[in-house]
Amino acid sequence: MDIVGSLVEDGWLRTPRIIKAFRKIRREDFMPLELKNAAEVNEAFPIGLGQTISQPLTVGFMLELLQPKEGDKVLDIGSGSGWTSALLAEIVGERGKVIGVEIIPALAEFGKKNIAKYNFIKRERVQIICGDGSKGYVKEAPYDKILCSASAKSLPEPWKEQLKINGRIVAPIGSSVWLFVKKSSKEFKSSEYPNFSFVPLVQ
Ligand code: SAH
Repeated sequence: MDIVGSLVEDGWLRTPRIIKAFRKIRREDFMPLELKNAAEVNEAFPIGLGQTISQPLTVGFMLELLQPKEGDKVLDIGSGSGWTSALLAEIVGERGKVIGVEIIPALAEFGKKNIAKYNFIKRERVQIICGDGSKGYVKEAPYDKILCSASAKSLPEPWKEQLKINGRIVAPIGSSVWLFVKKSSKEFKSSEYPNFSFVPLVQ
C-alpha cells in the first residue's frame, strides 16, 4: 500500500478534502533529486541547509487538527520545501490563499520552484515570503488558519493577533504539537499532543 493509503487505514487521515490533496500533491515533487525514491517512506528527510521535509504522518496529523476549509486564508510558517503550502493551496481551492514564510533564502527559492510545478504561484494562490515567521506576516493578516512546521519555545504573540476569531493555530512547541482555537480577542482554547520531533523555530 502507498503512504497515503496507510495513513488513511491507520486513521491519521480522515477528511476527504485533505486525503484528495495528499493524493494530488506528490511529496517527491518537493524532495531533492537524489531522494525522490524515498518520497513514500514515512520519515523526515534532509532538504539541505540543516532542514527537513516533514514526515507524512506528522503533516497529516497537523492538517487534520488545523481543518483548513475551502476559501480559507492560511499562513504557513516554515514553508521549506513548499510541500505543506502546496497541500494547503489544494485544500483551500481557488477562492483561498496561502502565504508561506521561510527564513532561509535558498529554501524559500527551492519551495517556490517546487510549488510552481502545480501552477499555484502563477495563479497567485500561494505567495512565498522570505522572512522571520515568528512575527507572522501582518501585511496579509488576519488569517483563518496558521500552521507552523518548526518548534517554538512558546506561542508567538503576533500569531495570536493575526488570527481571526474562531481561527485555529497548529504549531509545535518543544516536542508537542499544539492546537489553539481563538474563542475571543483574548481567549484561546488549547490542546497538547506530545511526542513529535521538529527542527527549531528561529526566534
Ligand atoms: N513545511 C515544510 C517543513 C520544513 S522544516 C515542509 O513541508 O517541508 C521547517 C522550516 O522552518 C525550515 O525550512 C526552517 O528553515 C524554517 N524556519 C525556522 N525558523 C523559521 C522562522 N523564524 N521563520 C520562517 N521559517 C523558519
